[in-house]
Amino acid sequence: MALTKKGRYWYGSGPDDTRTELLRYSKANAYIATRFAESVCTCGHRAFRLESDEEAGAARRTCLACGTAHLMGDSAEFADEADFDNHECVCAAESFELLSGVALYSESNDVRWYYLGCRCTACNLVGVFADWKCEAGDADAFLAAA
Ligand SMILES: [Zn+2]
Ligand SMILES: [Zn+2]
Repeated sequence: MALTKKGRYWYGSGPDDTRTELLRYSKANAYIATRFAESVCTCGHRAFRLESDEEAGAARRTCLACGTAHLMGDSAEFADEADFDNHECVCAAESFELLSGVALYSESNDVRWYYLGCRCTACNLVGVFADWKCEAGDADAFLAAA
């Protein structure tokens, strides 16, 4: 698998490519992502509709197979004040595989910055669709709810 660039966008074929792009993006942001988690619905499916509010620091994914909505990471704490925007790919599809990445504070397991990586299941575009400073505490608990 390898990333290929078409115009302004990068395209891949699986979670590894999303991770590569997320890593590149995080390096440019100075807080390098070191821990990752793929989103999987309780029903086992991995394609979601995605809404987020970077300002509030919240993201919600909705499974395209069973319709279950899930507030990602620590988003439940901020969902009340969030004004969710729906994500649409440049190809107009609204179906994404999601990969969460976090940067940690040095010598700790505490989340410092959150990156929401996506791969469009229709056209394979990969990118970081949202990121924000995140004080979620323990990365294991946070990523378990990715
Ligand atoms: Zn589901
Ligand atoms: Zn697409």
